[in-house]
Amino acid sequence: MPSFNASLHSKLPKVGQTIFSTMSALAAKENALNLSQGFPDFDGHQDLIDLVYKAMCSGKNQYAPMAGLPALREAIAAKTEALYTGKYDPDTEVTVTAGATQAIFTAIAATVNEGDEVILFTPAYDCYEPAIELVGGKPVYVQLEAPEYRINWEAVKKMINQRTKMIIINSPHNPTGSILSAHDLQQLEKLTEGSNILILSDEVYEHIIFDGYEHQSVARFPKLAERSFVISSFGKTYHTTGWKVGYCLAPAELMKEFRKTHQYNVFSVHTPSQVAYAEFLKREQEFLGLRDFYQEKRDLFVSLLEGSRFELKHTAGSYFQLLGYKKISDEKDVEFAVRLTKEHKVASIPISVFYNQNLDNQVLRFCFAKQNSTLEQAAEILQKV
Ligand code: PMP
Ligand code: GLN
Repeated sequence: MPSFNASLHSKLPKVGQTIFSTMSALAAKENALNLSQGFPDFDGHQDLIDLVYKAMCSGKNQYAPMAGLPALREAIAAKTEALYTGKYDPDTEVTVTAGATQAIFTAIAATVNEGDEVILFTPAYDCYEPAIELVGGKPVYVQLEAPEYRINWEAVKKMINQRTKMIIINSPHNPTGSILSAHDLQQLEKLTEGSNILILSDEVYEHIIFDGYEHQSVARFPKLAERSFVISSFGKTYHTTGWKVGYCLAPAELMKEFRKTHQYNVFSVHTPSQVAYAEFLKREQEFLGLRDFYQEKRDLFVSLLEGSRFELKHTAGSYFQLLGYKKISDEKDVEFAVRLTKEHKVASIPISVFYNQNLDNQVLRFCFAKQNSTLEQAAEILQKV
């Protein structure tokens, strides 16, 4: 269609299609195994699917309340308190969102003003930076330290100033699979004490943490929780990324601002899914069992890759495995990921795209939320590269 010359001054001049869409499209075109975009290649529990269907057949098809179905908010608050001790009032401190992405956008849009600085850790999940830039904020980057991708809190301290409005943390971490310890959160508590700095804690992989470690939710740390938006997603927990339902927890005063934006951003979220999740959340074993389920997949994938020319990094949480390929090629990671997809038929995600300056350490991210047969096929191919 011809378009008139709108002379649009792009608000996001650097942004193109996300790497997830690009690599998934390439995987489909090349008929490659898709270990790029993070989603399972298997379905969630049939009972959960039946619960959505039942809700649809029993008239639960109109707008849900703006903040989410009360039964679901109650279930979320109860789960949070049982696991992390943090107490959130379902009426005023829990909001159901259209996935974690919307919760993140809304929390940033509701609180970050023009000229405010927001500290991010790189490599950073891709949706933080554009949200900050759209509202006129300034992303400030602190690099996670190799080889374990840990936060250097001294470096963070140096970046904090009068304009610092928010710090975004993410544990378990996408794309690296690292996790924050209680000590990390204590450091953050110390750094922010007495300031007005807000925390956005992206905890979408809260139940996918391995080797007996406990997830250190901000909701365990009262002094942090009072200044934090804690965000999670049912997509990761229940193998239902396409349903796009997540939530945000925050103290009432912060949540009041969050909801002002949320109500004009999406207003409310898919009702039948909320009915189903409210019921399904009662089955503790389903979310508590997730760590063993994915640890088995991590261990399988890692054991199948031993002896290959890829360098295996350690995954402490999330469903991503990083593989270095310095012994195989000196190509840039984007080029290598594309070639691996086209020539070898395995798609992955290059890590440089998660750095502000496209720092390339020649590392790729592979999603192991896949059937064992998919992981076996992928590993067989990767062994030969
Ligand atoms: N944060 C992180 C770290 C993620 O990996 C993802 C996506 N998987 C999201 C947020 C977005 O979650 P959702 O699909 O619920 O919007
Ligand atoms: N979170 C998913 C990943 O890291 C991608 C979600 C998306 O495509 N936006 O792969």
